Amino acid sequence: MIERFLKQTHFTSEEDYREHLHFIVPENFNFAYDVMDEWAKTAPDKVALLWTSERGEEVKTTFLQFKEETDRTAAYFLSLGIGRGDKVMLILKRHYQWWLSMMALCKIGAVAIPATHMLTANDIVYRNQRASVKAIICANDEYITTQITKAMADSPTVEVRVAVNSLAQKDREVPEGFHDWYAEWDKAPAFVRPEIVNTNDDTMLMYFTSGTSGEPKMVAHDYLYALGHLITGVYWHNLDEHSIHLTVADTGWGKAVWGKLYGQWFAGATVFVFDHEKFTAEKIMRVMEKYHVTSFCAPPTIYRFMIQEDFKKYDLGALRYCTTAGEALEPAVFQRFYQLTGIKMMEGFGQTETCMTLGTFPWIEPKPGSMGKPNPQYDVKLLRPDGSECEDGEKGEICIDTSKGKPLGLFRGYYRDPELTEKAWHDNLYYTGDLAWRDEDGYYWFVGRADDVIKSSGYRIGPFEVESAMMTHPAVVECAVTGVPDEVRGMVVKATVVLANEWKEKAGEALIKELQNHVKRVTAPYKYPRVIEFVDELPKTISGKIRRVEIRERDKK
Ligand code: ATP
Ligand code: MG
Repeated sequence: MIERFLKQTHFTSEEDYREHLHFIVPENFNFAYDVMDEWAKTAPDKVALLWTSERGEEVKTTFLQFKEETDRTAAYFLSLGIGRGDKVMLILKRHYQWWLSMMALCKIGAVAIPATHMLTANDIVYRNQRASVKAIICANDEYITTQITKAMADSPTVEVRVAVNSLAQKDREVPEGFHDWYAEWDKAPAFVRPEIVNTNDDTMLMYFTSGTSGEPKMVAHDYLYALGHLITGVYWHNLDEHSIHLTVADTGWGKAVWGKLYGQWFAGATVFVFDHEKFTAEKIMRVMEKYHVTSFCAPPTIYRFMIQEDFKKYDLGALRYCTTAGEALEPAVFQRFYQLTGIKMMEGFGQTETCMTLGTFPWIEPKPGSMGKPNPQYDVKLLRPDGSECEDGEKGEICIDTSKGKPLGLFRGYYRDPELTEKAWHDNLYYTGDLAWRDEDGYYWFVGRADDVIKSSGYRIGPFEVESAMMTHPAVVECAVTGVPDEVRGMVVKATVVLANEWKEKAGEALIKELQNHVKRVTAPYKYPRVIEFVDELPKTISGKIRRVEIRERDKK
């Protein structure tokens, strides 16, 4: 399938890749028709989606079945009055219907807005109003439907609400005011493809950012965004038609479309889904074993917990390829995972606003702790505050130069927020807000978010280097480094630490000293954390990212 969109597909070196990677951009590209339905024609019996749940349910759907089911879903949406350009919020957790809805909305040219199930009524009102949401499709979960019902009084644009039961309980009643998906879904008249569905510039998808550094921002993507993820699935995840790929991500996080949809189906891989409530490393590793997952992607936090497990308890023999993104991966975690599995994790870097921006592609030898090299689709620049380009070894902000036009997969802007868009993207440069440095081999190394950098006694300290040093001590499972205000130094470095179980009872002055000395030994001593706090859990986003901003706020009080 990918051959249709690329002039050449197999690369053996970076030079080859840079020279030959040319996308063929069709007119009015529509992922659901042009990729998914094409697979249904050429490989109807291939498994597109292998969906499993904690409740023991299992659904194996071929591309042909999936095409038929999405047609039916599209017909159902049309019958509800949803059409081209309408905004539809999906609060579906990892339920099977999320995949049907995403593709069905694409087929009718409506705009999908996936959101997390943890939203409160106020959050829902905010989103409904900001985006003029017309319909909400949600899991028939008491918390979610109650919040949506509460939000209705202040959500004048919402005309349609649909509640979706779980497979095991299809007949459960849905609350008043909601359509019952299972009772109605297959009753709509047969699907007829609308004459005009989309142009390449239409908005296909709107996602909220994780909210790691503040309020989540609403990112608008056009139809070509899906095409941008060809790189993610085919080259970063290194998938082909024989792969079974699992990305751990809530569907309300942009990472879901990085790892559970577009790129994977470009490659013809099977998207493996495990619909679970609360994450544990054990649960994930059990299903990876049972379903012979070949390719795995998760944010570093998941790996940090996996390496605490006894790997002898699991047979992960089918697993061949592992990737990570979303946060910085400490070299210590890379090394430990390599010892346990023989697999070198391939790190990538990107944002809800972008596709893969930097990555460790299959032909690059990973350097532990580095994010990899630029995706050739993007003209990546590392800039000093005055706008000039950094030398190798110098810290700067990761930017994407758009003077030759908007590259595939870069967002169109923050929805209805030209000011915020202009702040991040001006003079043909998109500023990621992330700092990094580049080594002499062209690899990029994460320093920290511009907002997280600590200024202490005239030094600028990136939290990641201190966290990486802390993580090389066996007592430390996870760690967040922040600055706390200090009269003399401006800021001092603080580490908030989750200890490994067997170290928990040693939490105290002696261990603090030991950790401080350890950091002084493994990195430049001025960076050592003068303050260390032990906690049971770090504050995180739904995507599992550490919210340093919350620790900072707490420390101000
Ligand atoms: P918000 O913008 O609302 O604060 P967020 O930036 O965490 O949330 P996402 O779009 O999910 O929202 O995440 C993108 C960010 O994740 C990047 O800007 C970067 O800070 C971080 N990130 C992604 N990959 C990596 C990586 N490999 N190493 C370090 N940081 C990464
Ligand atoms: Mg961000």
